[in-house]
Amino acid sequence: MALLDELLTRIERQGPLTLADYMGLCLTHPQHGYYMAGDPFGAPRAAGGDFVTAPEISQMFGELIGLWCADTWLRLGSPDPCLLVELGPGRGTLMADALRAARALPGFPEALRIHLVEVSPALRRQQEAALAPYSAGRAVTWMDSLAALPDGPLLLIANEFFDALPVRQFEQTADGWAERVVVADGEDGLAMALAAPSPLNASLIPPGLRGAPAGSLAELCPQGLSLAAYLGARLAQQGGAALIVDYGPAVPTAGATLQALRRHRRHDVLADPGSADLTAHVDFQSLAEAAEAKGARAFGPVEQGVFLQALGIDARAEALAEAAPAKAEEITAARRRLTASEQMGSLFKALALTAPGLETPAGFPERHPGRDPT
Ligand code: SAH
Repeated sequence: MALLDELLTRIERQGPLTLADYMGLCLTHPQHGYYMAGDPFGAPRAAGGDFVTAPEISQMFGELIGLWCADTWLRLGSPDPCLLVELGPGRGTLMADALRAARALPGFPEALRIHLVEVSPALRRQQEAALAPYSAGRAVTWMDSLAALPDGPLLLIANEFFDALPVRQFEQTADGWAERVVVADGEDGLAMALAAPSPLNASLIPPGLRGAPAGSLAELCPQGLSLAAYLGARLAQQGGAALIVDYGPAVPTAGATLQALRRHRRHDVLADPGSADLTAHVDFQSLAEAAEAKGARAFGPVEQGVFLQALGIDARAEALAEAAPAKAEEITAARRRLTASEQMGSLFKALALTAPGLETPAGFPERHPGRDPT
């Protein structure tokens, strides 16, 4: 309730909140934000937690991403030192699995300088514990944002990070695009309302949606777009590659996708702010365009199932099952969950952003020349 009271006071003093302001406060408010204190992640088959992410389903996910990083490092010319950055590492599981797999390539682990972008003090502690066995006594640096990252070639991983970045929503009306905002409902709760339409909103809407009929909704993620633009410029100037894995459509689609999840169930977005995870589909095409506009190249998005299969998940699953026959069924189930299209395989996608001139990264199809930006 503490966050609800604070939001109502803000609205009374300063007027309606944009949905992005609301989502940002619900997730990362220093005292009451959803990610700040708790552990939202559930074990795959346990009832706990609010949602399950790919690295928590199976070690294969982080291992294959670790090998993707090792392979990309070779394509970059084996820079030493090389920054290895993860955005929103959660429990630290993906990075621990990736570092274990990275030991297969001599020289690679030693070259890495690990930086974790994480706002939650509680999750930072979990990440530190998870990484202790794999970071080989080397320093791991935590930061609140990429702004503090030192210069140098970069390998960056972000799994289910962009879907947690605040989104704004707009509705097409007879008088132009109007923003959806959060107001007080007059009964100590929150409600959604529509601000006055403004001609300034149109430039924010993805071009393919601008002429959508009245009643259409458009959702966009300003922080995600500026992060992609920052990465694009940085990769173009200093070298490296970024791998973004998340859920969403390949091209921008009309409609609102923001949802709240609690205990694996949908929850009212405006009820009990700070108590549920808020997440929205990622617009991969707009991220790719923002990075390419700054000089980087984008590959994908490819479906997660296709990506993991190209990286060798089937062989890895077989090897793990041979080493632990009692777990064979569990391993097969995890592989299916990560790759089958009716599970995570199609909705989740991987997008790579790279310095220009780098060959096609592992797991991505060759770029068709026609897709190059003009
Ligand atoms: N990558 C992990 C966790 C995904 S949940 C996994 O796949 O399991 C999102 C993560 O991003 C959490 O660690 C959360 O605390 C962090 N996070 C969310 N918003 C953030 C922000 N604005 N800045 C930094 N970290 C953020």
